[in-house]
Amino acid sequence: MSEFETDLFVIGAGSGGVRAARISAGHGAKVMIAEEFRIGGTCVIRGCVPKKLYVYASRFADDFVDAQAFGWRLAHKPEFDWPKLVAAKEGEISRLSRIYEANLLKAGVDVFQERAEILGPHKVRLMQSGRVVSARHILVATGAAPQMLPAIPGVEHAISSNEIFDLPEFPKRLAVVGGGYIAVEFASIFARLGAHVTLLFRADNVLRGFDETLRRGLRDALAEAEVDQRFGVLPTSIMKAEHGFELTLSDHSSLHVDQILIATGRAPHTRGLGLEKAGVEMDGIGAIKVDARNTSNVPSIHAVGDVTNRVNLTPVAIREGHLLADRLFGGADREVDYDLIPTAVFTTPEIGTVGMTEAEARQTHDCVDIYQTCFRPMKATLSGGGEKVIIKIVVCGDSDKVLGVHILGEGAGEMAQLLAISLRMGATKSDFDATMALHPSAAEELVTLRTRTARHTRDEE
Ligand code: NDP
Repeated sequence: MSEFETDLFVIGAGSGGVRAARISAGHGAKVMIAEEFRIGGTCVIRGCVPKKLYVYASRFADDFVDAQAFGWRLAHKPEFDWPKLVAAKEGEISRLSRIYEANLLKAGVDVFQERAEILGPHKVRLMQSGRVVSARHILVATGAAPQMLPAIPGVEHAISSNEIFDLPEFPKRLAVVGGGYIAVEFASIFARLGAHVTLLFRADNVLRGFDETLRRGLRDALAEAEVDQRFGVLPTSIMKAEHGFELTLSDHSSLHVDQILIATGRAPHTRGLGLEKAGVEMDGIGAIKVDARNTSNVPSIHAVGDVTNRVNLTPVAIREGHLLADRLFGGADREVDYDLIPTAVFTTPEIGTVGMTEAEARQTHDCVDIYQTCFRPMKATLSGGGEKVIIKIVVCGDSDKVLGVHILGEGAGEMAQLLAISLRMGATKSDFDATMALHPSAAEELVTLRTRTARHTRDEE
């Protein structure tokens, strides 16, 4: 008999933890998993999945307007029913959560719906039942939680992305603090659903780190959607008002809103987990330090996903969990390849991107060619909508290799996923040019963009 009750104890049943548990069980390991909230984790319960459902809801606003240019007459002015959307979303995420749980049980994993804390390198306590379990390996997959920054007076009146999905009332006036993924996505969603949105952020533009051309394009598109963007402005205090809240801003103005969403990043969810007691090293913000194979300095304790604060994206956590399970119990030792991870920002228009931005390429390559276009999509020609598509291809001028592609426009996320395959295969600009176009589509511009827009060489800099 084994000296341990279980081979693997997973703390956190989100994307990374569930994948690691199921794959490990599939390799024949005895696996337990504990979750203190709802099975599925942030992505399924209060992240990517409900967000995308709300993105779909928001885009009907444009469709109703566009439809009329295509011959549709709307008998009534469309009305939006927030409680109906919230309830429909709840139905769907509950269904997904049940599927996650069923799949764990089907794989033979023991599921505990309670908090678990670490007592030592091989020991975990289930906090509700008090049961102590000995485990050969412990996997921490507890994700991250919203950080409510800046820590200004009255910040307790603000909400995070955890709460926004289930607000009992639709906020007609919404302040969003932050300029990252979550902030711009919710600004875009709520503006289309009919809210007056004010976006407050400290930088001179949204989405720091993304390609500058796309950042400018998104800034203009948000302005067109009547999102009031206040560059370099943050709230300095929040006070309860007769109706809603009053914010004092760093430019000395004030703002009245019904809700304030703070989206200034997320911090690893490690507090109180017992990691210090077990001797696990963490960084300054509480992220678990792991090696390239997701193991901490304590050989029996591993971590995957946002709790390690590396690339905080669902598919990355899933891959990390999968490869860890393969290594611990499947006899396969592979490292996660973090190169060329495609990503999307689900604003409207959305952003899809893979590979280096122009700035990154110019820092690392002697000669960089840019192929860029901005055009009105075909749909907008009848509807008269002002939306634009921007496509930018970043190419190594010496080797002709495509280093990055950045797209703003309908379907950009879908395009980025497919482009990631060709970039991983080392596609060159000549490969793009030799590919037959698919007409009529927006994506055909990727293979018909012949004229170089700019060449940047180190000598000129
Ligand atoms: P991000 O890191 O994307 O953005 C954080 C924003 O908050 C930035 O604008 C940053 O400003 C600002 N900020 C940070 N600290 C402060 C502070 N103390 N005061 C004022 N502003 C501050 O975080 P999000 O919360 O938007 O998202 C968290 C993570 O979730 C993302 O990193 C992403 O990995 C993931 N995610 C992915 C999505 C997707 O794939 N579509 C969707 C949603 C989330 P500055 O730029 O100046 O630093």
